[in-house]
Amino acid sequence: MMDTVLIANRGEIALRILRACRSLGLKTVAAYSEADAGLRHVQLADHRICIGPASAASSYLDAQRLIVAAELTGAQAIHPGYGFLSESAAFARAVEDAGLIFIGPPSEVIALMGDKVNAKRAMLDAGVPCVPGTPQQLPQELDQVQAIANDIGYPLIVKAVGGGGGRGMRIVRDQADLAQAVQLTREEAQRYFGNAGVYLERYLEHPRHIEIQVLADAHGNALWLGERDCSVQRRNQKLIEESPAPGIDRATIADLGQRCASACLRIAYRGAGTFEFLYEDGQFYFIEMNTRVQVEHPVTELVTGVDIVEEQLRVAMGLPLSVRQDQIRIQGHAIECRLNAEHPWKFTPSPGVVRSWTPPGGPGIRVESHLYAGYEVPPHYDSLVAKLLAHGASREQAMARMSTALAEIDVTGIDTNAPLHAILMQEPDFRAGGVDIHYLERRLAQGLGKENAT
Ligand code: ADP
Repeated sequence: MMDTVLIANRGEIALRILRACRSLGLKTVAAYSEADAGLRHVQLADHRICIGPASAASSYLDAQRLIVAAELTGAQAIHPGYGFLSESAAFARAVEDAGLIFIGPPSEVIALMGDKVNAKRAMLDAGVPCVPGTPQQLPQELDQVQAIANDIGYPLIVKAVGGGGGRGMRIVRDQADLAQAVQLTREEAQRYFGNAGVYLERYLEHPRHIEIQVLADAHGNALWLGERDCSVQRRNQKLIEESPAPGIDRATIADLGQRCASACLRIAYRGAGTFEFLYEDGQFYFIEMNTRVQVEHPVTELVTGVDIVEEQLRVAMGLPLSVRQDQIRIQGHAIECRLNAEHPWKFTPSPGVVRSWTPPGGPGIRVESHLYAGYEVPPHYDSLVAKLLAHGASREQAMARMSTALAEIDVTGIDTNAPLHAILMQEPDFRAGGVDIHYLERRLAQGLGKENAT
């Protein structure tokens, strides 16, 4: 029995979860930090409970406080959103042990996919193609490490088994640098993830980032909802996402999607998830699975019409998915621009009081944001303040609608990166479609937007 959901997150995703709960007739509890009492979802929730000070370590990352908050407010389920504890197997297990429902896959599945070497092995077994490299933790002996490296071939990337957030990775172009790179990555991995395990993979020079959205329930159903191209990134952070991925053969994508759905059945996956791939020279290579809802999920919602967060909630309630694979059709094209509270060219964070906020509108426009005039963006968290989405019959129409929307936004009091997005929508390479993951940094290094920088 699940009638009340505790939202263990903040910002736009907390509001998104609240709306999905409401539309399914579920009650909500907002668990918020002292810095977040003014958030929209805290005001709108049926119940609210302060879980600690602004520091995430003492609030949104404190598993015990969240579980006690659920118990005190009578919530039977916890939705972790993205970031924070959303991919913590230990948190999911603690929630399960407390007799509550973790809205996500079972804790063992999070643990399996959170270890990248295990995840890679599971994917190879399921027939999903992976980046060349042995799915094994590196031994201590240098001669063995060198032998493994020679087998894979240079350039290589050393990656942390327990890595995440773009940390714990090092490129090696030459055998002379291997020993030191492995050592430094081990130290970093121990420091950030409490697990010094590392492994090697071939380093791909100019890949695109393409990912497959999946949904699975506890009744033996698993499906895939098309792909997203998230290649416009800066420092491994996605900035623009779109669906479908321009210029990739549909049959190849369908084959990959089907393999991902089958892999979900093999690992007893449940809920929403994403298989991330690098795509280079016509080949897909699995890099990792995200066992949670992603920031960019609305891109897929626009082209498929499926409400991914509602499906997560349905699965948590023990219901079957509301759609079948043969009902999924990709309609038109959707693009998302992440609006961050930061200087558009210097990328310095820009917290502060929002003086005015008028979001754009019109056909095909969707805005996911917790902003309102008078809201104070706190300095303690991620700088994402809004997601702007445009849907059109074609990619051209989606880009045109996005440009119109970006020009319409009125936000004062904080800086945002809207001017950067506006320029990117007019950039010839972006407009042509199919840029690689280094495109944005390359263009910034060439002086993109310099004439605007002051
Ligand atoms: P994280 O969990 O930290 O996000 P990922 O494995 O998803 O780590 O990798 C993050 C990013 O690092 C990728 O999107 C890509 O830009 C780069 N990367 C990872 N593996 C490779 C590789 N084998 N070759 C080239 N780039 C890679």
